[in-house]
Amino acid sequence: MQNQSCPKILAGEKQLGPYPMEKLKHVDQPTTKITENIERTDEKEHGFSRAELGKLGPIAEREYNRFCEKYPISLAMWDIPPLLEHIADGEVDPHQAPIPQDPEVLSRHIKSLGYFLRANIVGVCRLPQWSLYSYNMEGEPVVCDHQFAIVIVIDQDYRTMNSSRGDDWISCSQSFLSYNTSGFIACMMASYIRRLGYPARAHFEGGPEGAYQMAVTPLLLLAGIGEMCRAGIVLNPFLGTRFKASVVTTDLPLEPDKPVDFGLQQFCQKCLKCARECPSQAIPLGDKMIHNGYEVWKLDTDRCTLYRVTNQNGAACGRCIKVCPWNKPQGWIHDMVRWMVRHTSFLDKLLIKMDDVWGYGQQDTGDKWWFDLEEVDGTLQIPEGENRE
Ligand code: SF4
Ligand code: SF4
Repeated sequence: MQNQSCPKILAGEKQLGPYPMEKLKHVDQPTTKITENIERTDEKEHGFSRAELGKLGPIAEREYNRFCEKYPISLAMWDIPPLLEHIADGEVDPHQAPIPQDPEVLSRHIKSLGYFLRANIVGVCRLPQWSLYSYNMEGEPVVCDHQFAIVIVIDQDYRTMNSSRGDDWISCSQSFLSYNTSGFIACMMASYIRRLGYPARAHFEGGPEGAYQMAVTPLLLLAGIGEMCRAGIVLNPFLGTRFKASVVTTDLPLEPDKPVDFGLQQFCQKCLKCARECPSQAIPLGDKMIHNGYEVWKLDTDRCTLYRVTNQNGAACGRCIKVCPWNKPQGWIHDMVRWMVRHTSFLDKLLIKMDDVWGYGQQDTGDKWWFDLEEVDGTLQIPEGENRE
C-alpha cells in the first residue's frame, strides 16, 4: 500500500489538544488496583436501568420517565441522539485508504481529528473484553470484538457549573451537553474510520441499543484520562469530574495511551468534600474496598440514582462534581496547585482547607443564565419545589 509522508505533528510529542495531557506522569497500571476477578455486568444492573425497571421502587420508576424531560433544555437535547443512530455503525469501505500504517501516527491523527471536531480530551486504549456488558437491556449477549477503544471527553462547562447549585434545574442538561456532543463527535469519527476501510462503531448515551456496549470507567482509566476518585467516577486533573465521554471501538491499528498518576489517591484519602456535600450520602467517608475486582471507594449507586431520579428541586444531580476542589477553570494559579498536589502531598490538607476558605464549591448566581422551569402535565411552570440557592 502506498503511504503518504508523515507530517512532524503526527510523529512528534507536541501537545495536540487544549490540555497538556502529554505532560502528565504515565504509569504501567491504573492507580486503582484492577484484579483478575472482574465479572462482566448486565446492563440491566446499571443504576438508571434499575430505576427504569422498577428495582428502586415505584416513585423512581415513575420519575425515571421525566426526571430529565421535565426540564425543557434537556428535553430539547434528548431528541438528538436517535437522529445519529444510523451513522454510529455501518458498512466498512472494502478498499483500505493509502494512509501510514504506523500505530503511533494513526493515534495522533485520530486524536487530532477529535480535537478538530471540538473534543476536550481524546485518549486511546485496548478494549478489554471484561469492560463489555454481559447482556444488554433486551437480554441479548453483548458482542464487540474490536481491538481498540477511542475515548472522547467533553466538558460540562465550568461557568454553568460554577453558577449552579449542582443539583438544580440545569444539572441534567449539563450531562446531556457532554453526552450529545461526545456522541456527535464519536459518530463522525466512526464513520470516517469506516470510510478508511476499517471497522468502527460509536457508543454513546441514547445511541444504538440505547447506549454503550460497555462500562466506560475502565476505558477512561486505561486511556489515561484520569484516576478513580472518592465519588466513584474518573477524575481528570484539568476538568475534575466535570465531563462525560463517548467511545469509538475499532480495528484501525492504534498506539494505546498509558494510565496516569497525578497524586489523586492520596488527595481523595484526605479530602471528604464530595462525601460531605452529597445530598443522598451515597459517597463513602471511609476507605477503599474491593468491588467486582476493583479497589475503589464504593459509591452507593442505588442511593445516588434514587436522588437523581426523584429530585423535586431540580433535574438530576451533579453536586459532587461541582464541589470537588478539582472543578476549576484553566489558569496558571490552578496549574500551580495541580503541580503542588503532584509534588508536595504533605500540603494536601492545607490545600483542601483553603478550597473551603476561598469559597470554592459555592454557587455564584451572577452567571446564572437559565430559567428554572418544570414541565407538568404538558405545561411549563415555575417549579413548586424549593428553589434554594
Ligand atoms: S450525583 Fe448527587 S447524589 Fe449522586 S453521588 Fe453525586 S452528589 Fe451524591
Ligand atoms: S471532592 Fe475531594 S474526595 Fe471527592 S472526588 Fe473531589 S478531591 Fe476526591
